[in-house]
Amino acid sequence: MTNSDSACNKGIKKGSCASDSRRIFLKKACTAAITIAGSDFIFPSDPELKYRQNSNESMPWYRRITRWGQTNITETDPATYDIKWWRSYWKRTQIKGIIVNAGGIVAYYPSRIPLHHQAESLGGRDLFGELCRSAHEEGLAVFARMDSNRAHEEFYNTHPDWFAIDASGKPYKAGELFISCINSPYYDEHIPSIIKEIIEPYHPEGFTDNSWSGLGRDSICYCDNCRKRFREKYGLEIPSGADWDDQTYRQWIRWNYDRRLEIWDLNNRTSKATGGKECIWAGMNSSSVSGQCRSFRDYKEICARAEIIMLDSQARSDSEGFQQNGISGRMIHGLLGWEKLIPESMAMYQAGRPTFRLSSKPPSEARMWMIEGIAGGIQPWWHHVGAYHEDRRMYNTAAPVMTWYKTNEDYLIDRNPVANVGVVWSQQNMDFYGRDATEQLVDLPWRGITQALIRSRIPFLPVHADHIDRDAKKYSLLILPNLGAMTDDQVASVRRYVAGGGSLLATGESSLYNGWGDPRPDYALSDLFGAHITGKVHALSEDKNARRIQETLHSYLRIHPEIRSSIDGPHNSLEPPATGVRHPVLKGFEDTDILPFGGSLNPLITDKGTEILLTFIPAFPIYPPETSWMRVPKTNIPGLILNTSGQRSRVVFLPADIDRQFGRYNLPDHGNLLANLIRWGSFNDFPLVVDGPGLIDCHIYRQKGRLVLHFVNLTSAGTWRQPVDELIPVGPLSIKVRIPEGITGNEIKFLVSGKKPTAKINEGWIRFNIDSVPDHEVVVIL
Ligand SMILES: [Zn+2]
Repeated sequence: MTNSDSACNKGIKKGSCASDSRRIFLKKACTAAITIAGSDFIFPSDPELKYRQNSNESMPWYRRITRWGQTNITETDPATYDIKWWRSYWKRTQIKGIIVNAGGIVAYYPSRIPLHHQAESLGGRDLFGELCRSAHEEGLAVFARMDSNRAHEEFYNTHPDWFAIDASGKPYKAGELFISCINSPYYDEHIPSIIKEIIEPYHPEGFTDNSWSGLGRDSICYCDNCRKRFREKYGLEIPSGADWDDQTYRQWIRWNYDRRLEIWDLNNRTSKATGGKECIWAGMNSSSVSGQCRSFRDYKEICARAEIIMLDSQARSDSEGFQQNGISGRMIHGLLGWEKLIPESMAMYQAGRPTFRLSSKPPSEARMWMIEGIAGGIQPWWHHVGAYHEDRRMYNTAAPVMTWYKTNEDYLIDRNPVANVGVVWSQQNMDFYGRDATEQLVDLPWRGITQALIRSRIPFLPVHADHIDRDAKKYSLLILPNLGAMTDDQVASVRRYVAGGGSLLATGESSLYNGWGDPRPDYALSDLFGAHITGKVHALSEDKNARRIQETLHSYLRIHPEIRSSIDGPHNSLEPPATGVRHPVLKGFEDTDILPFGGSLNPLITDKGTEILLTFIPAFPIYPPETSWMRVPKTNIPGLILNTSGQRSRVVFLPADIDRQFGRYNLPDHGNLLANLIRWGSFNDFPLVVDGPGLIDCHIYRQKGRLVLHFVNLTSAGTWRQPVDELIPVGPLSIKVRIPEGITGNEIKFLVSGKKPTAKINEGWIRFNIDSVPDHEVVVIL
């Protein structure tokens, strides 16, 4: 599991002399503006580095406040909240801002607004006001936290028409509380009046809101406000239920997204009108794209409006690991810009599986989640639920990370990520292709690809499908991980990217559906893939599709050419190279003619000039063992197609859903094949090579006059099953990094161990070793 450029790369280069000569041609043919595939790795140039290097006081507060803390107030806290103790904790953890419960469902100050429910134990105390004043005295910024989507029975009885109802007219409830309707005066009048009431006496710097986006996608509101507005906009009635094939339901989905953006804008207008232009309303967002979909939060449009993203993503999931946090940071920065900040709520209590609000999270588990976020450009924000704890161990977790962050902050913000592999995603694909099977159709292929990249130590960045034209010049390889739903514009931008010399790796059903998830007659990118669907493309709503991707079949893929026996069948499309030498993307599989599969693929015909390196072997019984023999050992159904004809770049099409299988089962064969394809597609031309044992997440950034590398050690007994309670050091790691223009490599330092290594510079690369990495190491090269 190394990224060595020695044996493997030499093999690839020997096997692709024709490609090398094409690379030389490309270098000559491409204009300076299009330096994509085939050219040597290009670093972002200095003029792109427009960001500050140090925080400075003239910037708005939301660009300066980088370390946050939050004590989420429970109903009994007002009676006992010890502000003096918490002030000392703020100092000890080096925070620059706090998030404090203010109003919404419950008010923590004496509100005059009718029906604004006061916390039961408030007893006349102005707890929010005291905390806000205390924070300001300490020089801290304050985000007033709202929670605005439900209310008590008295409120419902006074304004029943402000609340969401189902088709039978029954109000939607969460426990004892009634859920307010997003189209009602609750959001247009009540919440803005609370925002104004809070700003006038307390002057918080801004607002967050935990559940600002109201009722989620799983419930349809049929109140008069909703019916009237939907009729006015589309001349249609609210859909009678969820039906992804029904255009009315699809319009209802879009309409709901638009309404949340209206709320975002309204709350910002309200807070700025009363509190000044820097008094922003920042809502709250999730790192889960499918979660954002279910809440109608359009990430791309929100990031186009937001000055800061307050991220509620408190702990890892077993399925995705700590690395999920580094990917989230890079994905959101890709939309928001790298000059803005993304603080993230990080649980100091046992959040996740299972949750214990009052027990300390094992410190190694909490620490690794924080570190991965920081590596991905996220800012730390500790989070406790309740102001009094009998498990006091949780107060020791944040301070060491926060203190280290403060010392090294200049290296951790305002930086440009460096990567030449982009992985494409879109929320539209999650909605209209993923529909009710997002885990199988979207998340697993994404996870398989990103995990193969991390395992191979190849730096990469998420790319939004609408930003391909804007961002593509950075990348030598774009990956479409089963990006089933693509608009015509997105298809055209991929086509322009490849025409400009970019390489492409597409998997599964990429481009087979339009932006609404309706089937196309063939892949929209079929000419690039060199492959065409035979027969009718199934509609996503067909049951067989949902079943097909959930089953794991006892099927295989046959490798071509076989090494132990020659191919003699009538499978004319197989055409193995005459030499019998395998393609470099099959490196490492010399001692096998088959690979485990288990997944699904569509039958295809391929264009002349394509190479088919894997074919499908249909499923046969596992039990009893006597029956476990191949019924059909060979087919001409392609599992892997390379198309380099007619294009200047390399196109890999993987109809076999190896990415989904790797995301699901973690079989090394699948990860190694994906890594080989990515290396070949990228001309094996990466900015960074890391050798040594372990699972290491590698991040690389450029700042003015320096490179910043962040290595996170994910090797641990708890990598795939939380919590981690022991950090297992790995090392030595041997690192090789390209040196961009403007950096000499004469000075190098480690920000975690504090060591100053010796480095060798040779032919534009700097080489050095890291002896041991317990949790992470940050390397600065000047
Ligand atoms: Zn409604």
